[in-house]
Amino acid sequence: MITQAPAVPPAFETRELTKTYGRGSTRFDALRGVSLSIDEGASVAITGKSGSGKSTLMHILALLDTPSSGEVLMKGSSVANLGPTAINKVRNATFGFVFQQFFLIPNASVLDNVTLPLKIAGVPARERRRRGVEALDALEMADKARNRATDLSGGQKQRVVIARALVNDPSIIFADEPTGNLDSATGAIVEDILFELNASRGITLVIVTHEPELAARCDRRIQIHDGLLVEEVAA
Ligand code: ADP
Ligand code: MG
Repeated sequence: MITQAPAVPPAFETRELTKTYGRGSTRFDALRGVSLSIDEGASVAITGKSGSGKSTLMHILALLDTPSSGEVLMKGSSVANLGPTAINKVRNATFGFVFQQFFLIPNASVLDNVTLPLKIAGVPARERRRRGVEALDALEMADKARNRATDLSGGQKQRVVIARALVNDPSIIFADEPTGNLDSATGAIVEDILFELNASRGITLVIVTHEPELAARCDRRIQIHDGLLVEEVAA
């Protein structure tokens, strides 16, 4: 008898996603039918020229935006029927975000920035503090917990952003140009951290980037061209 391992549904699947911004003479088709599948634990680069639709695709995958048509499935289930509360819950519990622009609260402390997702999730203060310090510790930033977020270098800010992304113990990290604002040495350190999290914790990485070196480190490279998925680029 042949025993088959149960099929693990992919972390994400999209079917014919389209996204249209504006209407009439300002109408713009940012995505024109994108179908793809991303396995759990994979590291995937989304590449393509500026304006090709990379961020639009990532925002739809991350449930920050909805498609004009088409479908997103998470672990085999369509997300179309989830209401706003359920979507917020999934996002907060499952996703971590690392964006080029950091989006830190400038005058709040590093620790308060890192623990914000826990506050939103209603985690009590003591537990927030413990997990925040733990996340900062993993990024070797625990000694900066009380600093204001503005009083940090670019690389330190991005490490705080990664600590914030990790504080909810996410299964997926979405990163949009994560090294775009960093010098190459600091960018390399941030990349190492992301790939180490992928290897050691099995966190799925979805990384939008136009940097070939970063894309090359991912298991897969998906190229977007004028809102369409170009045949996947080989390693
Ligand atoms: P990328 O991340 O690849 O640079 P984006 O997904 O941000 O591209 O944008 C794709 C296209 O959609 C661009 O031409 C951009 O100008 C347009 N676009 C993005 N967001 C909006 C919006 N909110 N309203 C109108 N057009 C938009
Ligand atoms: Mg973009």
